[in-house]
Amino acid sequence: MKKIMVVLMVCLMVLNGCTKDNTQDYTKVSNQTYLLGTLVKVTVYGKDVSKEVFNGAFDIIKNIEATVSKNEDNSEVSQINKGQEISLSESTYKIIEKGLYYSQVSKGKFDITIAPLVNLWGIGTKNAKVPSHEEIQEAIKKINYKHITLDQKTNKIQIHQPIELDLGAIAKGYVADEVSAYLMEHNMGHAIINLGGNILTVGEKPDGSSWKIGIQNPFDARGTKLGVVTIGQKSVVTSGIYERYLEEGDKQYHHILDPFTGYPVENELASVSIISNLSIDGDGLSTVVFSMGLEEGFDFIEGLDEVDAIFVTKDKEVYLTSGADEIFMLTHEDFKKKQMKK
Ligand code: ADP
Ligand code: MG
Repeated sequence: MKKIMVVLMVCLMVLNGCTKDNTQDYTKVSNQTYLLGTLVKVTVYGKDVSKEVFNGAFDIIKNIEATVSKNEDNSEVSQINKGQEISLSESTYKIIEKGLYYSQVSKGKFDITIAPLVNLWGIGTKNAKVPSHEEIQEAIKKINYKHITLDQKTNKIQIHQPIELDLGAIAKGYVADEVSAYLMEHNMGHAIINLGGNILTVGEKPDGSSWKIGIQNPFDARGTKLGVVTIGQKSVVTSGIYERYLEEGDKQYHHILDPFTGYPVENELASVSIISNLSIDGDGLSTVVFSMGLEEGFDFIEGLDEVDAIFVTKDKEVYLTSGADEIFMLTHEDFKKKQMKK
């Protein structure tokens, strides 16, 4: 009985506290908590890791969340959504800048002014519902990334027609990059940053070997993988139909929405994982490419340097861009590797 209690207490500590586990000549320091609407976990492998400095990583996450969340009343994004043309902090500026870039390259399939539609559906919140056709038409009229511009000289955002921002498709990636920079600055050069399944590794493993990161099986419980990628310092971000969805009748409505139809993006994809250097690119691109679908998305990623992708279709087929083919190993027998037709 006593033993069980001890195990239980240790588990509880893991859930919202610090764990230390001495392995060979380095110490693993890990902490996880709920931030950015998801479970956030940072793990550092090092020597003499100061708990205080380590915890600074979570302060970074909290600060950026307070600035860019559309659900925080006083965040910069909330002020913008109320129509105020404010001067932006560096974080908000950079996220909007990159968000606008991906809105442009996807010709609006990805659009950071999608908030009216996201709010209407409420997927992932307790108010989730399938909206009426009229409500959807009203909401999509308000979406248009071209109604904002950034002024590099003043760091100000200019709003030409009322819009509402939702940076949810890209902010986590930026946060991961900032945490990575912080850890490296403070000599924590071997780490894994996990923001609800969005992974960014720092350095190699402490013994110099590569990391092995599982790719989620989109049809199974969270944590079940369909394969593994072997990587050095890289970001691995997945967008999929399983992340957050609403079930009504026998239909599932997931959380990546098409700004043109107003409904969840419908194509052959169940998920797409992006492997890139910066996590802001991985996060942005996972949503962009999911919206594009397999064929357009595949060509788009093949055209980018140092970015690769793993596409998983609803038929359990796995398509790999050329770089992904070298680092991905399929481990689940229900899935089949396929070649893209030329
Ligand atoms: P997750 O947040 O689950 O990691 P994504 O990175 O794919 O997944 O982002 C999905 C989120 O992005 C949605 O919850 C919503 O806030 C926002 N979003 C949904 N559709 C779009 C879209 N077409 N363009 C830009 N952002 C979107
Ligand atoms: Mg994304």
